[in-house]
Amino acid sequence: MEKGEFAVHSSEVLVEGREPYVIVIPPPNVTAVLHMGHGLNNTIQDVLIRWRRMQGLASLWAPGTDHAGIATQNVVERLLAKEGKTRDDLGREAFVERTWEFVEETGGAILDQLKAMGCTCDWDRTRFTLDPGLSRAVREVFVRLYEKGLIYRGEYIINWCPRCLTALSNEEAEGDEVEGRLYHLRYPLAQGWADAAAEAQAVARAAASTEAEAEGGRAAGVEAIGQLPDGRWYLTVSTTRPETMLGDTAVAVNPADERYKGLIGAEVDLPLTGRRIPIIADDYVDRGFGTGLVKVTPAHDPNDFEMAQRNGIPLLDVMTPGATMGENAPEAFRGMDRFDARKAVVRAFKEEGLFGGDDSHTHTIPRCYRCETVVEPRLSEQWFVKMKPLAEPALQASIDGTVTFVPGRWKKVYEHWMENIRDWCISRQLWWGHRIPVWYCQDCGETIVAREDPDACTACGGAALEQDPDVLDTWFSSWLWPFSIFGWPEDTDDLKAFYPGHVLSTAPEILFFWVARMIMAGYEFLGEAPFKTVYLHATVRDTQGRKMSKSLGNGIDPLEVVDQFGADALRFTVISAAAVGTDIHLDPDDLEASFASGRNFANKVWNAGRFTLMSVGDDPIKPLSEVGKDLELSDRWILSRLSGTADSLTQELEKFRLHDVAEKAYHFFWGELADWYLELVKPRLRDDAAEGSKQAARTTLVTAFDGILRLLHPLIPFVT
Ligand SMILES: [Zn+2]
Ligand SMILES: [Zn+2]
Repeated sequence: MEKGEFAVHSSEVLVEGREPYVIVIPPPNVTAVLHMGHGLNNTIQDVLIRWRRMQGLASLWAPGTDHAGIATQNVVERLLAKEGKTRDDLGREAFVERTWEFVEETGGAILDQLKAMGCTCDWDRTRFTLDPGLSRAVREVFVRLYEKGLIYRGEYIINWCPRCLTALSNEEAEGDEVEGRLYHLRYPLAQGWADAAAEAQAVARAAASTEAEAEGGRAAGVEAIGQLPDGRWYLTVSTTRPETMLGDTAVAVNPADERYKGLIGAEVDLPLTGRRIPIIADDYVDRGFGTGLVKVTPAHDPNDFEMAQRNGIPLLDVMTPGATMGENAPEAFRGMDRFDARKAVVRAFKEEGLFGGDDSHTHTIPRCYRCETVVEPRLSEQWFVKMKPLAEPALQASIDGTVTFVPGRWKKVYEHWMENIRDWCISRQLWWGHRIPVWYCQDCGETIVAREDPDACTACGGAALEQDPDVLDTWFSSWLWPFSIFGWPEDTDDLKAFYPGHVLSTAPEILFFWVARMIMAGYEFLGEAPFKTVYLHATVRDTQGRKMSKSLGNGIDPLEVVDQFGADALRFTVISAAAVGTDIHLDPDDLEASFASGRNFANKVWNAGRFTLMSVGDDPIKPLSEVGKDLELSDRWILSRLSGTADSLTQELEKFRLHDVAEKAYHFFWGELADWYLELVKPRLRDDAAEGSKQAARTTLVTAFDGILRLLHPLIPFVT
């Protein structure tokens, strides 16, 4: 492809008055290699872009790549590990330099791979999320939100990967349900509360037996309150992570729970620690879970953290960043890995006669989306964006239909998420990315948030400033993508011409990571949504229904398909298979079965083209208006079918029913034009055929063939 071939200039819109049509590419990770998900999504975008371009619109597809903070840093760290080095050996500056070198050498190859698929991006506009212009947009946004009070620093429970040593967003820390253990631990009640305990036990037993009767006499389960052999009373709490009890600072009950009313304000002697902690009341406690008595570990559980904030309970962090037991843990456990500590704590409870047994228990264990390490909730100082005010207009946009989702079922999912949005933790303990534009004065403690790097403290004038060591979440730059690529915060011609765009096509997995946040940023900084339609494409799976992935080894390399079957075969196959709302199944072990039909179709188009050109010869083709009186029934039929097909293809494209476009174009071409009309006209194209009939046949054949080539072009651009 020649340079500048698909360039679109703002003057086409602003001066010539052409209607724009804009799609911004979901920027792939700069180190990514093409997989079938990209193959599908970029074919979809190219079909839409080519179709609108052929309609005469100023059709702009803006390409680029994402610096992908944690992903890229992990790649470079693995390379260093092969040299026996860590990032700390290099130091921050050298590590970042090394990462830049790596990115400049190998990065962006995926864009060349998109070219091999025939993607008609405006390549001159290629952007990278760490480009100076885009970095400036990031700073501007950080400072604006900070000045507005929407960015704050706070202690918070975050998802933490003890291997990557970084914070993870909720979406980066999802997990699968597993069959685990629920452990029941007995906490002795402090002296002086025996009467209250006895009364609580009586109420609890009465409640339990009523419940047991109601459930047909099923055993009541774990004893919530009881007496130890030495006469002390105990309360039973249940947990899947016994090691965290070393950091308990309270036990909580629901204030409306009749069983424990008399115990609110009492204290327990927390085993293994020598600490005494209070029993508090909080609405969060679910009376139906376990015994209705809940251990509160505010430094290691997000819900407990919030409970502690509400009730003024202290925080006690008993782990290190690497998830070993830290200095606040009792000496016997210090230095132990968290899972070893789990066993050790259970053993110690057994030895002290305080173990109440364990049950199998299905629960979700969140894992780091990069390295699969079990995520540990962790207390730390992080930067956050207050999302509620940003979410309001973005929610409204979906409710009133300003932004629509295809398939429509995603509307509900989106709205539910926007209604329940939580603050966004935007700091990451990484080196690769946009460094947080905050400086701390070492002399007076002032915090400075600035668009330009400051030389001196704004409060005391001192020069001892230290920049916050963290970088911003990768999504903090990609949520600005639809306008940062056009030069925002400057009010550029590009921005005027190409914002807002029209369609955003992406994988459903990043609806919240990316799409929702782009809509929020669009409203906050430009007053309108960045696109009108969000198309969430199918998931590409293997024949067993498993999502294609590198780790499963069941992927298909789109470039291999291009080599073996041609780019048109790849494109036609994925579009044909992509019915709205259903997944695509392809067989990685049998590319022939998956892609042969696409190749055969492209070949059929080629052969029909050769036949047509040969049969009509070199004489000029008369326009339709001159052969009207000689048109035969078959001519009128195929021309009417062409016009009907063109109309219905346009309608299907407008509804994003791309597989119907492929199917109908295929049917017209193969089933009507090639199988019927081409056969019917053969005798009329011979030298000895009657002149009028021959000319009508030539004109009709060329018109029909030219027409279907145009209709097929967005799908299979190479052969057409
Ligand atoms: Zn990790
Ligand atoms: Zn100062």
